[in-house]
Amino acid sequence: MELYITGLPSAYEVEHVARLFFPAAHLAPQSPETGDRLLAKEEEGNAAVSLTWQGTTLEGTAPAGESPSFALSSLVYDLARQATGIRPSWGKMTGVRPVRLIHDNRRRGMGEEAIRSLFCDHYDCTAEKFQLARSIADLQGPIIARSGPRDYSLYVGIPFCPSRCSYCSFVSRTTGKDGKLTGPYVDKLCLELEAFRDQAHKNGLNLRTIYMGGGTPTSITAPQLRQLMGKIRELFDLSQVEEYTVEAGRPDCTDREKLEVLKEYGATRISINPQTFSDQVLENIGRKHTARDILDCFAAARQAGHTNINMDLIAGLPGDTVEGFAWSLETAIALDPENITVHTLTLKRASNLVIEKQAAADAGVAAMLERCSLLADAGYRPYYLYRQKGTLQNLENTGWSKPGYEGLYNIYIMEEVHSILSAGAGGSTKLVDQASGRIQRIFNYKYPQEYLEGFQEILRRKEGVSDFYGKNLD
Ligand code: SF4
Repeated sequence: MELYITGLPSAYEVEHVARLFFPAAHLAPQSPETGDRLLAKEEEGNAAVSLTWQGTTLEGTAPAGESPSFALSSLVYDLARQATGIRPSWGKMTGVRPVRLIHDNRRRGMGEEAIRSLFCDHYDCTAEKFQLARSIADLQGPIIARSGPRDYSLYVGIPFCPSRCSYCSFVSRTTGKDGKLTGPYVDKLCLELEAFRDQAHKNGLNLRTIYMGGGTPTSITAPQLRQLMGKIRELFDLSQVEEYTVEAGRPDCTDREKLEVLKEYGATRISINPQTFSDQVLENIGRKHTARDILDCFAAARQAGHTNINMDLIAGLPGDTVEGFAWSLETAIALDPENITVHTLTLKRASNLVIEKQAAADAGVAAMLERCSLLADAGYRPYYLYRQKGTLQNLENTGWSKPGYEGLYNIYIMEEVHSILSAGAGGSTKLVDQASGRIQRIFNYKYPQEYLEGFQEILRRKEGVSDFYGKNLD
């Protein structure tokens, strides 16, 4: 399928909607005249679309109105839905934060029926997806209301992993090849945390949650973990922190000693991420461990005293099936973790070949997510949700938890409730002014080597925190 889009400053929205139906569609440099093609143009206040697919052509026009991009993508959506019979669950919604849309409109005074109509009529979301988003917004409401204007969370990034998963789109280096960087990296990270502590003090900020993610934080050595978590304990008053999460993601680098270090140094929530309990699927994604290793790691974590554990699963992994995914869900549920997060596979930088290879998984992924009813049956509730560009069928990622075990950091970052100060390579600090909704970002260098070499500049950028709070809150 070739796309030819003209008359808009940005073709992004139209392109995104077209790919809901034709995942391998690509932009053509000039108007194609043969084959499967979609021609979309805005001209003099009118939107016009011509879609040719499998030898049949459908055409439509509409007034472009105040939002030509939405008018054009709506036309594309309607014609493509008619031609293919495909019904995308989130309709033509392109935003990554559907729950935020509910919070924002409630704050603006929009009624519940108008919000339902926005989702189900304007965007053509299914009633099930709207109900999912609304139940999460209801649950999050009181949690968000507790956050004050000077509250913040701290993110600590460890961009190293024992090996690289085939689907990975994160900035992460393998400890085998770049292990010599981890020592200098932890040293610098401690200095950056000190600079953040100073900024927090100077601006009267209150630390609410800490999240150590990656990469895989437990891919650094136990002494390095002690050094880092010891520094965090020295710099911040952990008794005032509501939640301290460490991703202990993979069992091939998370041993008993490291699990004990996490407990000893104050982590209150950890994440052990199977992604799947199928050995074959683990091999397909390039993992060097078995499902048995995950079970052993989970047992060791319980023995080390961890009472709040999250497990991540991914729907749509290569070679997985609906039944296989359901079995992974059942296995996770049988372990009785406090949180289970279900992601949909995301293909960033996906080539057409990759997309075509994924066609089989794509077909089953919606059915896989439907099996999440097993979580509801087991007493878990969905508490946060987000979507990503490139996710199979544009489906969602959802965090489920037992009541009272909602991952607070996940809510704070996804709903942009308060500032997130982000340390480490690839860190993106997000400063939030609750009153105006203004958001400002400060970026760190992306890769560990760049981070080490440009560290003085990273420290210099910390002044941006004071600038922001000086301008917006004093
Ligand atoms: S564990 Fe996560 S961050 Fe590390 S390689 Fe795999 S997907 Fe990437």
